[in-house]
Amino acid sequence: MSVALGLCETPGCNALASLQCPTCLKLGIKGAYFCTQDCFKGSWKTHKVIHQLAKGENGNKSSDEYNPWPSYHFTGKLRPYKREPLRQVPESIGRPDYALHPTGIPLSEQAVRGSAQIKVLNDEEIEGMRVACKLGREVLDEAARACDVGVTTAEIDRAVHEACIERDCYPSPLNYYQFPASCCTSVNEVICHGIPDTRPLQDGDICNVDVTVYHNGFHGDLNETFFVGNVKPEIKKLVEVTYECLQKAIDIVRPGEKYREIGNVIQKHAQAHGFSVVRSYCGHGIHRLFHTAPNVPHYAKNKAVGVMKPGHSFTIEPMISQGNWRDEMWPDNWTAVTSDGQWSAQFEQTLLVTETGCDILTKRFSKNGQPHFMDKI
Ligand SMILES: [Zn+2]
Ligand SMILES: [Zn+2]
Repeated sequence: MSVALGLCETPGCNALASLQCPTCLKLGIKGAYFCTQDCFKGSWKTHKVIHQLAKGENGNKSSDEYNPWPSYHFTGKLRPYKREPLRQVPESIGRPDYALHPTGIPLSEQAVRGSAQIKVLNDEEIEGMRVACKLGREVLDEAARACDVGVTTAEIDRAVHEACIERDCYPSPLNYYQFPASCCTSVNEVICHGIPDTRPLQDGDICNVDVTVYHNGFHGDLNETFFVGNVKPEIKKLVEVTYECLQKAIDIVRPGEKYREIGNVIQKHAQAHGFSVVRSYCGHGIHRLFHTAPNVPHYAKNKAVGVMKPGHSFTIEPMISQGNWRDEMWPDNWTAVTSDGQWSAQFEQTLLVTETGCDILTKRFSKNGQPHFMDKI
């Protein structure tokens, strides 16, 4: 706050005031004097409206917020903002088939669609997966560092995009069925597949960043939900329980286990805490193809086909919601939100079934291996 002279603007105060609101100064608004920081803070709620009026803004609306779907009824408070232009990948980086396809259709995946046969990777393919997944982890850790109050999800997307290119990786989501960004950013009531845009993250938000990289012919896929500033205790609980659901599911992965058991473990833990399990989106086989057999539902009593064998690689990525499990989609045809507007969290790892259990190919290599929400990188 800068020094000036006047009478305090707090109604009924009238003390001599020497502090002027810095935002008013910047905006060229005359007056706006306060006697003390406390008086300034106490008046902030009513005072800040002057800034918005001066900037021609309406309430909290930023100039980047817009409503492309006037007839759509949003389930929660989150709104779409303008996006940044599509990002480019240098020619020198190897890319999957859909990257160049105008419709973004992955022909290699469609060729085996409907088959429940699960590929057993050979040693060379396993090594390819280890490298892609390690690079994917490094890229997600970059996203974690970028994620903070005031940062837009488009800025996180740019950090992810650049981190991919630095590591000679193609960001797998880009142009996959025409997805328009290099990662998914899913905020608050968004369950998954949120499109990065110019909305600045707000204190108290949660933001999931889902990264997949394509390197030397293989995809590595992982995601985490990050706390933005001060998150309410009940939301922290949701995020922590979601992380535990993934851990408990990973604990049963070994040769001979049925893929359908994973959902039983996850739903039991989520339900014990009063949360629900999203049913529309599942884990998936992953290697040379981004999404393939097996299909891995996260809910109980599912009918998933297949038994785990050494050499299988797949993801587990439970989406856990505060309220009911139902989802719906924004008219952008990507953003999945809870149907009741309550919040949802997610964690994901890519796994390899080994002779005795499994390797978490996308695990964090940092100091103590704790999840990010307990240990800011
Ligand atoms: Zn995935
Ligand atoms: Zn993912």
